[in-house]
Amino acid sequence: MSSRKPICAANWKMHKTRPEAAAFVDSFLPLAADLLDSVEIVICPPYTSLALTVERSATSTIRIVAQNMHFEDAGAFTGEVSAGMLVELDVHGVVLGHSERRQMFGETDEALARKVPAALAAGLEPILCVGETLDQREAGDTEPVLRRQVETDLSEVPDGELGSLVIAYEPVWAIGTGRNATAEQAAEAIAFIRSLVAGRDEAGAAAVRILYGGSVKPDNAADVLASDEIDGALVGGASLDPDDFAAVAAACR
Ligand code: PEP
Repeated sequence: MSSRKPICAANWKMHKTRPEAAAFVDSFLPLAADLLDSVEIVICPPYTSLALTVERSATSTIRIVAQNMHFEDAGAFTGEVSAGMLVELDVHGVVLGHSERRQMFGETDEALARKVPAALAAGLEPILCVGETLDQREAGDTEPVLRRQVETDLSEVPDGELGSLVIAYEPVWAIGTGRNATAEQAAEAIAFIRSLVAGRDEAGAAAVRILYGGSVKPDNAADVLASDEIDGALVGGASLDPDDFAAVAAACR
């Protein structure tokens, strides 16, 4: 059994107005009360609900995390926010490199190589997402793709800080498709990612938490997350409902 505390993270994407976010937190807090000793619970709302969810969940240890940020501190970058602006809101961390940002918004590994250390330097916990497309898996390229993403995205992170990261293995073919990876596929990819970190720092590899994400639901979570290799889940669709998200968080223990 691993000594790493599991994480269950809700990626709300572009869902929930402020009243909807408030209603979620109010319903979810009592459901989370018994889970928080054994699972770190993270909610990633849209920017507009960050401050509200931070305030609303302040009586608990639930962490509020942003879905993206720019690597510069300030400047002429219309539509972007910096790490410092997130810290100002008492946000705990930031999701970086989600496949929707890579596929639809041109997020590159080169930009991520600057974003990850910028987040760490500001005191934010990055949740770096990596994963292969279906074509890449079917071509037998899963490991080279993961290697390129992990090596490039973490290239500017000092070895001694690798253990404070969170990485989410999210095969693109499993996100929002209802087609989850099997426990074996997830555990194999996560073990490979951990070995890449170990190539730079053994202690960091033992400490880094690596989650699985991709169509995790209350009815498959226990099976998909069964391996000790997997340190929890990043959850999209099933995180929008407090009962469903609490059920997945219970399976992460
Ligand atoms: C995600 O958005 O990171 C995700 C895993 O989504 P879903 O659970 O809906 O597949």
